Amino acid sequence: MNRKACYIWDESLIKECDRLPAVSNRASMVHNLIVSYGLNNNLKVIRPTAASYQDLKEFHSESYLDHLKCFIDIDEDYITNIQDEEYGIGYDCPPVSNIYELVSVLAGGSITAAKCLLLGISSVAINWCGGWHHAHRFGAEGFCYVNDIVLAIEKLRLKFNKILYIDLDVHHGNGVQDAYNLSKSVFTLSFHKFEPGFYPGSGGIDDIGTHTGRGYKCNFPLNAFYTDKTLEFAFEKIFPLICSKFKPDAVVMQCGADALVNDPHGGACLTEHGYIMCLRKVLDLQKPTLLLGGGGYKHPNAARLWTNLTAVVTGVELDENIPEHDDWPKYGPDYLLSVQPSLTKDLNTEQYLNECIAKIKCNLNTMAANSNQFLPSKSKVEANKNSTGEGIDIKQDTKNVKELGSQMENKTKDVYDFDD
Ligand SMILES: [Zn+2]
Repeated sequence: MNRKACYIWDESLIKECDRLPAVSNRASMVHNLIVSYGLNNNLKVIRPTAASYQDLKEFHSESYLDHLKCFIDIDEDYITNIQDEEYGIGYDCPPVSNIYELVSVLAGGSITAAKCLLLGISSVAINWCGGWHHAHRFGAEGFCYVNDIVLAIEKLRLKFNKILYIDLDVHHGNGVQDAYNLSKSVFTLSFHKFEPGFYPGSGGIDDIGTHTGRGYKCNFPLNAFYTDKTLEFAFEKIFPLICSKFKPDAVVMQCGADALVNDPHGGACLTEHGYIMCLRKVLDLQKPTLLLGGGGYKHPNAARLWTNLTAVVTGVELDENIPEHDDWPKYGPDYLLSVQPSLTKDLNTEQYLNECIAKIKCNLNTMAANSNQFLPSKSKVEANKNSTGEGIDIKQDTKNVKELGSQMENKTKDVYDFDD
């Protein structure tokens, strides 16, 4: 498919994402850099629709969503109570005014991106405001209030039987993996820093899913300061293998920017080149692909990374000198687009990486052994829904696709270019 990639954007998405306490004002910085290069002219810009309560319920519990609605006007003096803490509100996910509205808009961005793939509007959809991989069904965690990724995957599953989820954030994508731990339909692959005391603490090499999903989860735990070379070595050995065994129908890639060098919450040493290498391999698959953001706490570097990745998708080569725009002073002292590599020693030896690769190959045989029980899934997030006895029938799924189609046709005014 040679159509332009979809880029999810409107003022409210940026405004709401800018309100996230951990990445305050990052979204506008990312978008402004993309626009400063004129990349929006090479993209099909799509206005997102905020997620409804029904949409959010596809993954999140009603009790959590209802609790979020309580945060209307929060001031600095607000003291969290026991109920807040039960839902993960406090500490790294502080209360925010109108947080329910914020999560509806954030999730709506990724759901809209998924709809673009579902309807064949494009083969690649981008939402740099999404990628909140730590949020759980019953609560917030690790700066993430809503798991837009699971919600987008659930939307994709209306059409695509098998989804490969790839997570490049420096932290293990625990929220997404947990949602699909029992699933054969969603394979999760996460590369992350893994050492004692490093959040979230899960994602070891033996963490491969449970029961029916066993072998369909893959974690590549890396030592601190991993570089592009290490990621490339690991990715090139594992990714093709998973693709040949799992044969995904669509790919969702979380491109969390906190594995970039010098991230305040990171501890890895990637530059944009590591991510670009992974992205190129994913695009080579020529499957519908959803690209999402995630962590990334040195905002100019997150903007650099996601602008670079957008350029790869659009096939545009960018000038190394960042164009002058309102945020330009924030890119000093060099005002360059590249993230500069570090001289810190990568603690991953070739021997360690080869040991991991051998173990993962062995784990993938578990999937092969388990796959004879494979049935194209018609269920929602199995791990959670099965426990509550809920499900969805395939007729309902098909009906939803049609409804989406007509809805999108009726909303062609929402599909527009920047100049309109
Ligand atoms: Zn992270």
